[in-house]
Amino acid sequence: ISFIELNLSWPLLRACEALGYSKPTPIQSAVIPLAMNGSDICGSAVTGSGKTAAFALPTLERLLFRPRRVPAIRVLILTPTRELAVQVHSMIEKLAQFTDIRCCLVVGGLSTKVQEAALRSMPDIVVATPGRMIDHLRNSMSVDLEDLAVLILDEADRLLELGFSAEIRELVRLCPKRRQTMLFSATMTEEVDELIQLSLTKPSRLSA
Ligand code: AMP
Repeated sequence: ISFIELNLSWPLLRACEALGYSKPTPIQSAVIPLAMNGSDICGSAVTGSGKTAAFALPTLERLLFRPRRVPAIRVLILTPTRELAVQVHSMIEKLAQFTDIRCCLVVGGLSTKVQEAALRSMPDIVVATPGRMIDHLRNSMSVDLEDLAVLILDEADRLLELGFSAEIRELVRLCPKRRQTMLFSATMTEEVDELIQLSLTKPSRLSA
């Protein structure tokens, strides 16, 4: 199967080509069609499998296909660490380079003021670590998740290992009920299962 057969639109096909991706990885072939149908996804996938593009491409496609009417945060991607957030953000910027979709990074260690300004400008996509995202939502009247369409929990097992359970629960509560949620985890523990029960609706389970 090719990227063209996955029905991605040309700005994304062009980005894949620019990145030198000749064909989708197995997790991408599995996730992209289901995610483009709007299904919730629960994927066992490790770093190196191409999981970032697996969730980023259908999400970008959705943003292209359903443009926003008002500026708003449409997608929230939560990662356990600042390093992973930086990597995911950079991957999304590359995949979105031929679109006008904007992505911003919200992690500890960067200036809160600068991030606050970036969030107020209502980027389409926010890549964040849970603690810092909560701080912004609590402290700023102008930042909310009311128009969120897609929530992505990356490396869910590590998010829980690092003690972010309460933060994630709070963030899930702040998201609209009607949304698409994708969760990826290298391991499927009991805690991850609980989080799946809490945050996903009839998920398609995939592994690669
Ligand atoms: P990830 O598993 O998301 O951390 O991605 C691992 C690496 O695979 C990254 O350097 C990606 O740029 C690369 N990658 C992702 N998708 C593809 C693809 N379809 N073909 C070749 N490389 C890819």
